[in-house]
Amino acid sequence: MAQSLPVDQTSSTNSSDDNPLFGTYNRTPQTFVRGEGVWLFDEDGRRYMDFVAGIAVNALGHAHPHLVDSIKSQAEKLWHTSNLFQIDGGKRLAQRLCDATFAEKVFFTNSGAEALECAIKTARRYHFDQGQPERVNIITFQGAFHGRTLATIAAGGNPSYLEGFGPAAPGFENLGFGDHDALNEAIAREDCAAVLIEPIQGEGGVRSVPDQCLRGLREACDKHGVLLILDEVQTGVGRSGHLFVHQRLGFEPDIMAVAKGIGGGFPLGACLATAKVAAAMVPGTHGTTYGGNPMAMAAGNAVLDVVLEEGFLDTVQARARDLTQSLGALIDLYPDIFTEVRGEGLLMGLKCAIPVGDVVAAARNQGLLLVGAGDNVVRLLPPLIITRDDIAFAMDVLEETARQLDDARQS
Ligand SMILES: *Cc1c(COP(=O)(O)O)cnc(C)c1O
Repeated sequence: MAQSLPVDQTSSTNSSDDNPLFGTYNRTPQTFVRGEGVWLFDEDGRRYMDFVAGIAVNALGHAHPHLVDSIKSQAEKLWHTSNLFQIDGGKRLAQRLCDATFAEKVFFTNSGAEALECAIKTARRYHFDQGQPERVNIITFQGAFHGRTLATIAAGGNPSYLEGFGPAAPGFENLGFGDHDALNEAIAREDCAAVLIEPIQGEGGVRSVPDQCLRGLREACDKHGVLLILDEVQTGVGRSGHLFVHQRLGFEPDIMAVAKGIGGGFPLGACLATAKVAAAMVPGTHGTTYGGNPMAMAAGNAVLDVVLEEGFLDTVQARARDLTQSLGALIDLYPDIFTEVRGEGLLMGLKCAIPVGDVVAAARNQGLLLVGAGDNVVRLLPPLIITRDDIAFAMDVLEETARQLDDARQS
């Protein structure tokens, strides 16, 4: 499934060549053949520090021994059966997710967009079940990214993702980021089913929703009988320094979409919900061929083994503080290149005063992989296992990158 295009790679380089792949991505020339921890190695043996991590997917870096062992031993036993049968690994992973969150029920998918599709269907079906079939409208926010399926591009509301794909799926209302008046009006309407929001917009430019707004949203949803759906596909599974961002804020959604980090690189997503809401999803209402298969469940359980280990998230928070501090010093040194540090945990963004693509390319030339986001922000998404020494390396590259770009700007 197509990921949003990093904004630095939108100038076309591969549309007229003999590449048999759809030209939906403008890829860099590197072909990586091996990974180890925070490092990727290309065909020529050159190494790159990976601050993309598969766009927040490789939470434990590359070739993590526990993930490798778990996948290997599962591969020797059983790959796939079907959701027609019991899958023990799935029951175990679902139970662990429920024990660690607000949720009481879980549906496994293969991707983030599918987790959102399940979340949207669950919200609407819940109201249908409650005798309010008119409640179908889902409120979303400008700059959101929820995936690339027909429903999730309508949810995201980004005109350039919708153009040329026929009528946008109905039942979504995309409001201005921070437009409280529009929100109060839309949420009070009788057709409103749910509010869907990323606690920190990832693709949108690492834009955090203020804590009090998220809490206020929970209250407003309760007041109007509207469900709150959190999209923690990018922010979840430890990325923020907490298992999920909303847990730091002390409130709970009704439904949550999770993916990316949860499989550590194996395609896996999940839709989590309260028992009350999930009760509407009876046999026949939803399904998936691959979702939750034994291989994916082995990967998901192995990731949780590590992320839930005592002290793991504390270390993520400590490294996040190190990185935030260093980035603060960097923008003080190069205010004409970088203007602002954004984000939380190891989902960090640097707002750039020059084209973000120039920053990504210059850093890559020096062995550091970064990824752009909206709003001219470069994202830093290192594996959660990053060390102080790794951060020091990355900061050296970022400083040299800033120095070069600052020189080029002045000449
Ligand atoms: C990546 C992402 C998605 C879509 O996930 P896919 O696995 O690409 O379908 C949805 N929401 C958010 C917040 C994301 O970052």
